[in-house]
This record gives sequence, C-alpha cells and structure tokens, in this order.
Amino acid sequence: MTDPTPAADPGPASGSAPVPAPGPVPGSADADRHWLRLAVDRARLCPPSDTAFSVGAVIVAADGTELARGHSREGDPHFHAEEAALAKLPPGDPRLAGATLYSSLEPCAERRSRPRTCTQLVLDAGIPRVVIAWREPDLFVTGCQGTRLLTGAGVEVVEIPELADRAREPNAHLAV
Ligand SMILES: [Zn+2]
Repeated sequence: MTDPTPAADPGPASGSAPVPAPGPVPGSADADRHWLRLAVDRARLCPPSDTAFSVGAVIVAADGTELARGHSREGDPHFHAEEAALAKLPPGDPRLAGATLYSSLEPCAERRSRPRTCTQLVLDAGIPRVVIAWREPDLFVTGCQGTRLLTGAGVEVVEIPELADRAREPNAHLAV
C-alpha cells in the first residue's frame, strides 16, 4: 500500500491527507481505465466479508487531481467504498461538482446498514460522473437500480466491462 490512509476518522476534518500530483484528466478512455483500475485494485484491501461485496472507489477532480480513495469496511464495518472515500472530503467540497467517482462496483441503491445509499450519497454530493467496472449481481439485492437512478438524475454513468473480471476477483468467495 503506497498511500497511508489516516486511521479510522471519517469526520469532515480528515480531508488533509497528502495531495498526490494530478494524474490523467477524467473523460478520455485511457484516463478512465487508469483511474478505474486503481479503484478496482483498491478492493483488494477490504477486510473479508461473507455478507457484503469488496469494492474500491476513487474520486478524481476535473483536473485529474485525486481527491480521495476508499474501500469497503475501511475503518468501519458498515462502510461502503464510495462512502469511505466521500467521508474523507469536507461536505460541499466544490471540487465534487466536477468530479468523477470511479468504483469497482455499481453504487448500491438499497441497503440496510445506513439511511442513505451510495447512489444517494453520490447525488447529494453533486458528483456528475460515475465510472464502474461491474454491475451489481443479484446476490444481496435483486435488480440493483444504482445505474438507472443515477442516469435518471442526470449523472453520466460509464461502464468499462473489460475490468469487470478484475473487480469480481476479490469477491470470488461470494460465488458471483
Ligand atoms: Zn453502497
């Protein structure tokens, strides 16, 4: 692991992690693959679970600056990856208005452990673009509506299925 993540403190004041140099600007196929691969590989850091997916997420600003990374159960057994990444940024961070969220898995649209789903968190954060590798399979929830809800709310959702197998690997024990 090359990016020391602050210990379990998802509070709004914890957005002071060292800022890496800007990477590729989201939007091109090459840049999207670069960032999505990073998110997909992040899923390997998740503490194992038999009852939830292992997911990685990276939020990247419009200029290619990485804003935050997260993975499932990072610092909190109920954290989803998108939520863990968003929790590292101050609410209302203006950079989110132009950001792209990369996630190895389609954002959830139904969950029991939190009042807000990741789909709702993305919408509330005002993130206009989401790139995913893998559509949520019908395992814990039938017919995940994340992509449909995001698209319906005007969020651009890009799917890069060539990374789906890699996103599935850390979840192989779930028989998906
Ligand atoms: Zn979620």
